[in-house]
Amino acid sequence: MNDINFKLRKELTGKIPELLKCFQCGTCVSSCPAEKYGKAFSPRRKILAALYGDEKIINKELWKCVTCNSCNERCPQDVNPYKVLIKLKNYAIKNNLVEESLKDQEQLVKKTGFAIPITDRANRQREKLGLKKLNNIKILEDFSIEHEEKNKE
Ligand code: SF4
Ligand code: SF4
Repeated sequence: MNDINFKLRKELTGKIPELLKCFQCGTCVSSCPAEKYGKAFSPRRKILAALYGDEKIINKELWKCVTCNSCNERCPQDVNPYKVLIKLKNYAIKNNLVEESLKDQEQLVKKTGFAIPITDRANRQREKLGLKKLNNIKILEDFSIEHEEKNKE
């Protein structure tokens, strides 16, 4: 990890205050499917990169996150890592950091908040497992998420 870029750290923690609740325990990583297949990816590492204001590391393999929500179910600090990652993707989009090959995914995130939108089938499966229902969400200009409260129920 490089030196801290305080300007970017301030911008990101201002817009994504949940970053400051992360104590880097790594619990979110244990069931992350993207971490298993992406050497440079883990939700914990992306949060750390954001805290360092390291734009290069934030963006590297960021799009490997499949928005499965497992990290959220496990995080003891209520950081909502998958939502943090959606917001970091939003940051990447706003700053033209998205590679050409990922433009379709970019459009899905803009429209639904997810790289793979939530379907009724996914929610039925979640219900069977006793997990809360998820809704597609919309990222607003200030990085906040519309309908965020619904997904916290
Ligand atoms: S996001 Fe939560 S689970 Fe992951 S490292 Fe931070 S505190 Fe731990
Ligand atoms: S939402 Fe993304 S970061 Fe979280 S467990 Fe799933 S793939 Fe990993």
